[in-house]
Amino acid sequence: MTADAYDIVVVGGGTAGAFAAATAATEGLDVVILERKTETDAGHIACGDAIKGKSTFPDVIDLDYLKDESFTNREISRAVFENPADGEDIEIEFGEPGAVLDRKRYGEVLLEEAERVGSDIHYETVVQDVQQADDGTVTGVTGTRNGDHISYDADVVIDAAGALSILQDKTNFGHTFFDTNVQYSQFCSAYREVIDVQEPVEWADAIVFKPTKELGYLWYFPRTDTEINAGLGFQMDQPEMQMVPELKTAVENRPDLVEPTVKDKLGAALPTRRPYDSAVAPGYIAVGDAAGHVNPTTGGGIPGAAKSAYWATKRAISAIADGDVSESALWEYNREVMTDFGKHFAAIDLYNIWGTTSSVQELTEMVSSVPGQHLADALAGTGTASMPLLLKLRTLVDTFGHWGELSELAKVRSKAQELSDHYERYPSDPSGFPTWKSVRDGIMEDVYEITGADPKY
Ligand SMILES: Cc1cc2nc3c(=O)[nH]c(=O)nc-3n(C[C@H](O)[C@H](O)[C@H](O)COP(=O)(O)OP(=O)(O)OC[C@H]3O[C@@H](n4cnc5c(N)ncnc54)[C@H](O)[C@@H]3O)c2cc1C
Repeated sequence: MTADAYDIVVVGGGTAGAFAAATAATEGLDVVILERKTETDAGHIACGDAIKGKSTFPDVIDLDYLKDESFTNREISRAVFENPADGEDIEIEFGEPGAVLDRKRYGEVLLEEAERVGSDIHYETVVQDVQQADDGTVTGVTGTRNGDHISYDADVVIDAAGALSILQDKTNFGHTFFDTNVQYSQFCSAYREVIDVQEPVEWADAIVFKPTKELGYLWYFPRTDTEINAGLGFQMDQPEMQMVPELKTAVENRPDLVEPTVKDKLGAALPTRRPYDSAVAPGYIAVGDAAGHVNPTTGGGIPGAAKSAYWATKRAISAIADGDVSESALWEYNREVMTDFGKHFAAIDLYNIWGTTSSVQELTEMVSSVPGQHLADALAGTGTASMPLLLKLRTLVDTFGHWGELSELAKVRSKAQELSDHYERYPSDPSGFPTWKSVRDGIMEDVYEITGADPKY
């Protein structure tokens, strides 16, 4: 049996794992990434490959090199939401251009960079369990590599093993506030293909979405004007969707995708839920998908994975230096997440909950009748105060029959703001957590009452 000791052991070599390890190595700690895939396959991860313009990555690796190598389309300036009822599409311009990546190359460069700044990477290493001391502190992990049992000791284990991380099934979180209220129904199942087409698409500057009846959407994200990442997903509380044939039909029915040939296929689960209430336990921190750090309406998780990994590792480094890796010592990481993107993700999750109570036909009719930009504004929270009077009148006439839903939407929006404000007050230590949680759960009760939706949590 092989035994190894590190300051920090990072489980998973995706976005979160690579940024966590690079952060630790840059600060001079001994760190290893344990990745179950082979070195050749590592970085091959199911993704739509799109990144919003405002996304910022922690500056612990050579970001210019990352972009030059893997950001194949940096000209994404708008999102188009196609109307399934053949009505008016909704188009939203971005303030700053976004990008679509070659996800495999991006994953390879992240690992290459983590290694360059000093991390070890052990491939083909499948983590199967955690080691816990009698007081519950996580002290390492065990697993297998090429049939051999292996074990690693660590001051802190960073769980970057992605959605539905096995480590969380194995860890005893009793006596901590680590969020274990995690169910399949809060996840989305998604599948994507990378497709070559024979004619350049006209929308190489746009990411394109089309709603599906399972409360998900089809997407078409151009890596270049002839290489498209096309995919779809469905929320796991909805009836199962045959994703491969649905995508094939959708692609074949688009005249703008000329003679499509599939060059890569992959699927995975992703958390379309609020971030974990707490993602820390003694000696243990979860980051990225393993802590629900994904935008629950778009499925965008790359920026959350990168940022949370950076904050978590910084916190772990201070805790190790102080000789105290308790839940309290790591807690500030939770607050950093919640008061940054966490409050936003928790708030927009309410629109998912509201969406489950209307059929796609109702939603489509409503989307068709409300002027596109104003619906987008309503969801984005930028307000509709500037809506000219004529448009307002048109909306009133056209949306007749949907006033109930629109009134509900307005109430949900007000609750979303209340929730976001409450996340801003996330407690600075675990002692304040039960009171904070009880107020938050009260807001959620109001939302279930307004929408008539089944509780998601
Ligand atoms: C189909 C699809 C489309 C998406 N589209 C987008 C998009 O367009 N834009 C966007 O920003 N986000 C998108 N996302 C989400 C995004 O891919 C994730 O949020 C992001 O990859 C999370 O990074 P992570 O490092 O937390 O997890 P992952 O990228 O999942 O990495 C986890 C790593 O851990 C390894 N691992 C798991 N278990 C073990 C174990 N027991 N032992 C050792 N290693 C292990 C895995 O092999 C993997 O390498 C999409 C997700 C899916 C599924």
